[in-house]
Amino acid sequence: MSLLLSLDVVGRRALVAGAGTVAARRVRSLLDAGADVLVVAPEAGEDVARLASHGDVRWERRPAAASDLDDVWLAIAATDDADINMQIAAWAAERRVWCVNASDGLATAARVAAVSRHGDLSVGVVSEGAPDPARVARVRDGLAALLDAGQVDLRRVRRRGGRVILVGSGPGAVDLITVRGARLLSEADVVVTDRLGATGLLAALAEHVEVINVGKSPDNHPVPQHEINAILVDRAAQGLTVVRLKGGDPFIFGRGGEEVHACLAAGVPVEVVPGITSALAGPSLAGIPPTQRGIATSVVITSGHAGPDETARAALRSGATLIVLMGVTALPQFVEAALEEGAAGETPVAIIESATTPRERITRARLDDVLDVAAKSGIVPPAILVFGQVAAVDLLASALAATPAPPPS
Ligand code: SAH
Repeated sequence: MSLLLSLDVVGRRALVAGAGTVAARRVRSLLDAGADVLVVAPEAGEDVARLASHGDVRWERRPAAASDLDDVWLAIAATDDADINMQIAAWAAERRVWCVNASDGLATAARVAAVSRHGDLSVGVVSEGAPDPARVARVRDGLAALLDAGQVDLRRVRRRGGRVILVGSGPGAVDLITVRGARLLSEADVVVTDRLGATGLLAALAEHVEVINVGKSPDNHPVPQHEINAILVDRAAQGLTVVRLKGGDPFIFGRGGEEVHACLAAGVPVEVVPGITSALAGPSLAGIPPTQRGIATSVVITSGHAGPDETARAALRSGATLIVLMGVTALPQFVEAALEEGAAGETPVAIIESATTPRERITRARLDDVLDVAAKSGIVPPAILVFGQVAAVDLLASALAATPAPPPS
């Protein structure tokens, strides 16, 4: 069994000993591949003589010598004398240079494949047994016909040129990513992920896909945003397809905008695939509709980091649904703000931890007892806080009950 290789011979010296018809064919394939071809032969056929007169090859009019093999990558022994070819092959072997012996395919190390080219694809056929060039060519032609007839799927799996795709993975469950997101994930050479979202998708990636985790873990700090941006740009500049897998939706408190900016500034093509945000999926799975006819016609999504801002206060005051992300620590501040804004003590509050994951937990309370309830149950991030009438335990049940029975048909 031999190894079938493709060699990049651009600019590399190759020796062709002999200049007849067989040698001329090898000279042409070497030239097509970009090799620096030296022909050594006392006489040349018309083709090689012409190539030499045009300066396409260097032709030295003399018999080959052992020293011709000293600085070449590859040799073709294609004289019309089998003994001389054998001698050249032996000189090549002494110097560990690969040599094709045109007069005896079994005697030397290298064989030339019969090749057909189809755009950027090349098909090469070699036989391992006794040389039978016509048979090998027939197999090559059969394969080439199949390809040229469009009977083989030749679609590129990888695009040319690097790019970055921000993919929203959804809140956590692997089947809450979009179809588009999943398809693009399967095109990725590199996946840059963090801690939240559907990280279970990573287990299904092909082995060769590089996974870079930039998320926080108990013993390491999260990678700073500018470094994440640099990773995205750097990998894309290497021509790779980079998927930035983000929890929920890339543009809801995901710093997706900064990543898009960094790509644009670096001239890297960037695409965004929306995801199901935990801000809406968390409440929805808990049976809490962020808006509900007659109960809440607006919804405000805010971050707990800086505490309740004016818009959050307005929502609490007006009875709009308020959804707080990153709000576990800030829960007391939001409760205080709600009371200050005149919300009733019985205003429903819901806390949804680790939505759509095996650790999911839903806690219900009222504005005036939620701090006690939360302290007792030991709420841990990631969690969504929901303030408003839509968070009432029996909302959907009572709404259904309140719906008039359909008229008899
Ligand atoms: N882009 C994300 C949000 C990123 S901010 C999205 O659209 O979902 C991170 C915050 O999102 C967490 O602190 C938490 O408040 C919330 N979060 C994300 N995933 C969550 C999940 N599975 N369950 C509950 N909250 C989640």
